[in-house]
This record gives sequence, structure tokens and C-alpha cells, in this order.
Amino acid sequence: MKEVRVGLIGTGYMGKAHAIALRAMPAVFPVDARVICELLADPVAQRAEKYCREFCFNRWTDDWQALVADEAVDVVDICAPNFLHYDMAMAAIAQGKHVYCEKPLSLSAEQSLEMTEAAEAAGVKTLVGYNYAKNPATALAKEIIESGEIGEVIHFRGTHIEDYLADPSIPYSWRLQRKMAGLGALGDLCHIINMAQLLVGGIEQVCADMQTVIKRRPIVGSDDMGEVENEDQAHMMMRFTAGAIGTIECSRVAHGRKLGLTYEVTGTKGSLVFDQERQNELQFYSAADASNRQGFRTILVGPEHPDYAAFCCAPGHGLGFNDQKIIEVRDLIEGIVNERAIWPDFRAALAVDNVNAAAERSFLEQRWVNV
Ligand code: NAD
Repeated sequence: MKEVRVGLIGTGYMGKAHAIALRAMPAVFPVDARVICELLADPVAQRAEKYCREFCFNRWTDDWQALVADEAVDVVDICAPNFLHYDMAMAAIAQGKHVYCEKPLSLSAEQSLEMTEAAEAAGVKTLVGYNYAKNPATALAKEIIESGEIGEVIHFRGTHIEDYLADPSIPYSWRLQRKMAGLGALGDLCHIINMAQLLVGGIEQVCADMQTVIKRRPIVGSDDMGEVENEDQAHMMMRFTAGAIGTIECSRVAHGRKLGLTYEVTGTKGSLVFDQERQNELQFYSAADASNRQGFRTILVGPEHPDYAAFCCAPGHGLGFNDQKIIEVRDLIEGIVNERAIWPDFRAALAVDNVNAAAERSFLEQRWVNV
């Protein structure tokens, strides 16, 4: 059996989610590989040591460059803040290592293009953490769209709205600085762009608006306030290559929305509606139903839907956020050991960043922009 040895950089929110998925994946999916949690990096040695123990990794380091250069690491898994993705991924690619990177891929479409070209030239596998696309309910939505059951898609309405920065007393952080985070709500909540591309295809033109609502935030341990350098909320109109039109809204100040990643896909014969806060349900409307029976029906995911049965033999019991990461890790490991294409790879993540770059240009120039 092949071994895939992972070096994980980052022990925060995503570091933990990746560690859970790396350890649980082989128990869920019977892949032909042994996944070894080899090396864990965090710049603070005590944290690296503590999480190495808790996440059940073999070794730890406080130097990500040592992790990337380590001969026992096959995959570099990047769960560090956005501004570090480029250097870490480029170093890993230079060492011929596969790269599993959190979203957004980088700070700009230019950096993402360089990273994509470098990875493709080196022939390494890449995967970017657009985990919501791995949800069985969304895999089912894609199946329904591709089967033609809702006809030709004419409209996509998507939101990714949350309230994690709605409270003005929440302190200043790397997420609010251009050179560390890139874009704000659009950059952080770009999952919905990836979702639109998955379900409806390429986005050709956008017309966007964006706004910073809370312009300054308290700096921890200081009386100073930090300037917020990126947008709190944004929306855009879009035209898809295949002919549909649509809208996307992103916000990090939308009181009450905890994981408001939603989409409504309208076709010529029916519609689909999904809300990540109810991630085990897909709403399906068919215009073919008798007129006195028409209405959205709720499909609860179960073993007959993509990837669900590997977790649970009983329908409607439900999967959670971390299970999407387990499916993501399955795709990564299978892609590596079976030399299979992986989605979303760096090129797919670049397509998201290209939409965001066009959205910002559209806002600055106050006009429709080609992606
Ligand atoms: P976090 O602040 O919780 O953790 C960041 C971690 O990065 C730190 O704990 C540390 O271990 C590591 N780190 C920081 N500086 C470092 C350095 N110089 N060298 C090595 N490691 C360093 O952040 P997070 O929420 O886990 O975000 C990390 C990434 O994950 C971001 O790119 C973010 O956009 C992405 N993210 C993705 C999702 C998702 O659903 N896919 C959700 C949240 C965050």
C-alpha cells in the first residue's frame, strides 16, 4: 500500500479541521493508501508541540521552511493566513511536493496564476479548500442540473453572508489588512463563487459594488484603532459563459447569518434551493409536477446520494462541516495515489480569483468588466 505523508502548516481553525479530516478519512473511505500525519508546523514552538500531540502527528517544527524541505513530507498542507500561501506553495512546488492549500489561493489573481503555472510545470497535484462544494446535497444538485431535470439553467442567486465581524468591538486582525488577507468579504467568502462555477460553469462578466461598513477596529493591547483596508460587504451581477445570469452577495457583517451560504438555481423546467445552515437538505421544484401538486419538496440526503453512504447507512441522519473536509481529503489522496485529476485544483481556484479581481475592477471603474 502506498504511503502519503502529510506536513500540515497551521494549528488554528483550519489546521484543526484538516487534522480531523486527515485522521478520519481512511476510516470513512477505503482508499488504497496509508495517510501518515508526519509533521506539524506552527511558528510558536509550544503550540506546535501541543497540537502535534493533540492532532496525533509524528513530529513538529516551528519553521515552515523546514517542513517544506523535509524528505519525509509528500504533501504540504497550508492552513496559514492568506499572505503566506504564495511563499509556502511556491517553496513546496520547488521541492516537487503536492500542495493542499486553504482558500483563497493567494492575495491576487496574479499570484494565483504564477502558483498555478508553477504547479502545472512541476507536475504536482494541487487541491484548494473549497469544502462546501463537497457536500452530498450539492453533489446531488449538480447531478440534477446535469441530468437536465430543471432544464436549461437561466439564473443563479448565491449568498455567502456571515456575521463574524458584525460587532464593531471585534478587534483588528490579519483578515482586515490588504497585504495579509487580500480582499475582505469577497476574498474570504469566495466559496460561493466556486459554487456558482461548479453548478453553472464559467463566469464571463461581472458588475460589482463593495463597501467597508466598520472602518476602524480596536487593536488588542493598544489604545489605537486599526484601519480596515478591505470590504465588509459586496455584491455583483454576473453573466455566465453558458448564457445564464445571476447575482452573488458576500458579507461578514450580516447580523444573524452564521453560515449563510445559499444558492437558488433556476432552470427552464424547475429550480433548486440550498442553505448551508441546513446542509443536509436540498429543495427541488419541478414544473412537471401536476399543477395542483406543485411546490418545493425537501430532499434529505441519505445513502443513495453521493458520498453519504461511506459515513452512515441511515438516511436523514446528517453530515456536518468536518465531513466535507473528509471528502475533500479523500479527493486529494485518491488523486495523488491514482494519478487522477483533482478538483478544485489551483487552476479552478485561479478562476475564483479572476472573478474577484474583475469584481474589484468593476467597482473601482463603476462598470461591467470581462473576467
Ligand atoms: P487562524 O488564525 O485560526 O490560524 C492560522 C494559523 O496559521 C495559526 O494558528 C498558525 O498555526 C499558522 N501561522 C500563522 N503564521 C504563521 C507562520 N508565519 N508560519 C507558519 N504558520 C503560521 O486562521 P484560519 O481561520 O485557520 O485560516 C487559515 C486559512 O484557512 C486562511 O487562508 C483562511 O482563509 C482559510 N479558511 C478556510 C475556511 C474554509 O471553510 N475552507 C474557513 C476558515 C478559514
